[in-house]
Amino acid sequence: MNADSSAAERRDAVIARIRAACDAAARDPVDVALLAVSKTFDARDVLALARSGQHAFGESYLQEALAKIEACQATDIEWHFIGPIQSNKTRPIAEHFAWVHSIEREKIARRLSEQRPESLPPLQVCVQLNVSGEASKSGCTPQELPALARAVAALPRLRLRGVMAIPEPTDDPALQRAQFARVREAFEGLRAGGLDVDTLSMGMSDDLEAAVAEGATIVRVGTAIFGARPRPLAPQ
Ligand SMILES: *Cc1c(COP(=O)(O)O)cnc(C)c1O
Repeated sequence: MNADSSAAERRDAVIARIRAACDAAARDPVDVALLAVSKTFDARDVLALARSGQHAFGESYLQEALAKIEACQATDIEWHFIGPIQSNKTRPIAEHFAWVHSIEREKIARRLSEQRPESLPPLQVCVQLNVSGEASKSGCTPQELPALARAVAALPRLRLRGVMAIPEPTDDPALQRAQFARVREAFEGLRAGGLDVDTLSMGMSDDLEAAVAEGATIVRVGTAIFGARPRPLAPQ
């Protein structure tokens, strides 16, 4: 990564990586959306990237995200919440985001559905799957996924789109592929069970090629666009 290049130039490079990964997998690049993960970066960075054509932005920390959404009100940015959700924080998420990728409990889903304003379209959601077992506490288990997905799909103000996962980071492309393949298989299981899902949210700065090879339809990319995050990540 060239430290002097702008976020817009780095975004172009990420789009080129997505295209190359699609070529290698005989996939159409229009089927892979780029979510720019702007957590820890400020509204000016978001606005600059939006001007260069980026439409969807992902945020993990609610307070920080709400300030940015407010500052970007004049844009048509589509905001995605991708972080852990506490049950007392569901209302602002239901009110200010278009998508939520990180549903891991039915109780959270029910609250988001109840709190989604009637003036807005249904909240687009993914259920987060834990494919790393003990190594990660986030996400439901593969065993829990079908029932949770079914419960979410039945909620009136949510629209279940698919599955999100954050596999254990590894430099080994074969291991990356194997983890993403498990997410894809779980997703295909939902479709085989009759759920109308179309979204596989997986792949980040260091492993998006493996994710695209295994069928990702949204890749969530922060560092490769905005650079290294300016401060350590702390839970809010
Ligand atoms: C921070 C974050 C990303 C982006 O990670 P990078 O490695 O910086 O691309 C993607 N998904 C989630 C859920 C995140 O919290």
